[in-house]
Amino acid sequence: MASLFAKTGNEIAEILGLSKSFQGKQIYKHLVDGVYDFEEMTDLPLSLRKSLKEKGFSPFSSTIIRKDSDKSGAVKLALRLEDGFVIECVLLTDSSGEKTACVSSQAGCAMGCAFCRTGTMGFKRNLKDYEIVEQFAHLLGMVATSEKASQSAAMSSVREMVQKKSQDRKTISHIVFMGMGEPMANLDSVLSAIRFFNDKNAYNISHRRITISTCGVVPGIKELAKRTVPVKLAVSLVSADNTKRSEIMPVNRTFPLSELKNALLQFQSVSGRRFTFEYCLIHNLNTSKADADKLIQFCRGFEVIVNLIPFNPCAELPYETPDKEEINVFTRFLGKAGVSYTIRISRGRGISGACGQLAAKVQEE
Ligand code: SF4
Repeated sequence: MASLFAKTGNEIAEILGLSKSFQGKQIYKHLVDGVYDFEEMTDLPLSLRKSLKEKGFSPFSSTIIRKDSDKSGAVKLALRLEDGFVIECVLLTDSSGEKTACVSSQAGCAMGCAFCRTGTMGFKRNLKDYEIVEQFAHLLGMVATSEKASQSAAMSSVREMVQKKSQDRKTISHIVFMGMGEPMANLDSVLSAIRFFNDKNAYNISHRRITISTCGVVPGIKELAKRTVPVKLAVSLVSADNTKRSEIMPVNRTFPLSELKNALLQFQSVSGRRFTFEYCLIHNLNTSKADADKLIQFCRGFEVIVNLIPFNPCAELPYETPDKEEINVFTRFLGKAGVSYTIRISRGRGISGACGQLAAKVQEE
C-alpha cells in the first residue's frame, strides 16, 4: 500500500478509499502524534478501524528489519524499502535528554567519500519525501512506545503519552540530514520532507532545528541560498588541503576548495546564517599542524563553528581513530588561532556507528 506519510488528510482518505475526507484528517493527526495502529485511533468508527486492520493496511511503505542500541542511548534502525533496498536512521539522545533524528536522503551514495561506509556501497536511488518522513516516524513511534512502557500506570495509549509529552516539548526536537546519501543531490525530496517536518499541523519542528549536511556540492549550496528555507547548513570538510581532499572526497575534484569557499561566502551573505564545518578527525591523515593551519586559513571570512568528529572505526575501512592526545594537539592549534570548535562525543560506536555500516551489513546478510 502507498505510504500515508507526507500526505494531506484528503490524500490519505483517497489512498484508503474513505468516503468521508475528514476521516483522512483524523488519521493524519494520529500519524503525526506517533499513533500508527488503526485500532488505537479511537475517534474513528469501530467498523472502520476493524476494516482497516482486517485489510492489513499499514501507514508505512518501509519496514524496520533491525534495531540496534548501545549504552549512550543511540538507537539505529535498518529499514527495508518497498523495492528491497536497505537504509538506516539513528536516534541520538544527548546528556540533557534532547533527541535528534539522523535521517538518510538516498539509498547508497554516489559521492564515494573514502572514509564513509555508505560511500563504498555505490548509489542505489534517491529517497522519496515520504521515505524520509517515515524514518522520523519510525523513530518517533519507538520513542513513544518506550515512554509508554515506562509510564505504564498513568496513561492508557501511545497517543495520550505523545499528547502529554508534546505539551512540554516534542519527543524528537532536532533533525539532521547526516545519514546515508548526499541531501543536495536529492534536494527536492529533502525540501518537501522538511516542509512536512516544519508544518505546524504536522511535526512543527522549527527550521533552526533542522540541519542539512553536504560534502560540498556547490550547485546545491547555491540553490539552498536562493530558497527561503532557513535550515542550518553543515559542510563536511575533512581536509582544507586540495590534494588531500580530492584523494578522500572525490567531490573535491569537481568542486575544489576555492569554488566551495565562494559558494559558502555567497550562502553566508545571502542567508545571513552561520554554518558548521564537519571535520572528521582521522589518525595520521588530517591532524597535523599543517592540516590545522590550512583549516584555520580556510575558516577566514566565515562565521563558522568547526565540529570535530573523531572517526568512527569501521572494519571495512583502512582508517583509524586518533587518540586523545592527537585530538588535543589539533584543538590547541585551532584554539590559539581563535577558531570556534566543538568535539562531537561519539555516540553509537556499539551499533555500527559509521554512516552506512548497519545498512551495508544487513544488505549483505
Ligand atoms: S560522507 Fe556523505 S556524501 Fe560522502 S559518501 Fe558518505 S554519505 Fe555520501
